[in-house]
Amino acid sequence: MKIKALMYHSIDIPNKNANLKSLFVKPLEFKKQMLTLKLLGYKFSTLENLSKKSVILTFDDGFKNFIENAYPILKKLKATAYIFIPVSFIGKYNVWDYKKLNVKIPVMNWSDLQFLVKEGFIIGSHTMTHPFLTKIPLKDAKREIEFSKKFLEDNLGIEINTFCYPYGDYNKKIVSLVKNAGYKYAFTTKKGNLNFLENPFEINRVFISGNKVISLPSFIKKVILR
Ligand SMILES: [Zn+2]
Repeated sequence: MKIKALMYHSIDIPNKNANLKSLFVKPLEFKKQMLTLKLLGYKFSTLENLSKKSVILTFDDGFKNFIENAYPILKKLKATAYIFIPVSFIGKYNVWDYKKLNVKIPVMNWSDLQFLVKEGFIIGSHTMTHPFLTKIPLKDAKREIEFSKKFLEDNLGIEINTFCYPYGDYNKKIVSLVKNAGYKYAFTTKKGNLNFLENPFEINRVFISGNKVISLPSFIKKVILR
């Protein structure tokens, strides 16, 4: 059985004027997807407790709509998930792309994050300011990678082991910075089966698009059969 890490962003009905609607999976669709995985016998796992029939859930950008629309169903299913947070925007909104998206989406605040840690979710770093890491000076990239880990650790009182490259943008130098900062794992936007044993700093994922209503058979095909 091939294990996959699924990549989500917002779980919400997008504003009519929003661009890039693929980044919004509707709450009802999300619920159907999770129930389907559960009914098929999948375990919602972390990288550290995988079974043969596992699936890994990841949510980029730490949006507040996770708490409103994803958390309740995940709680019911006793599912865990990775949440990647751009630390400078905690308690704010998607400052890095609201112009492109034409909509401001609230980002979780510290007490949301503390709550999710208590509930067994895994918080990871998505840098400080969500830059293209290969397009800024290396010393700035280093700061983005190191400071975000330290801020999260100091404020949440836990170890932060997981990183996620904004826009999936990285190269060998960026990978080294992530390794040297003390992370254990980093997720990319590269498509494929879970490869974290071979390559813990370039972990593949499968993007779940909310663009059109993805039918359950095609979700199953994408997540399970491919
Ligand atoms: Zn992101």
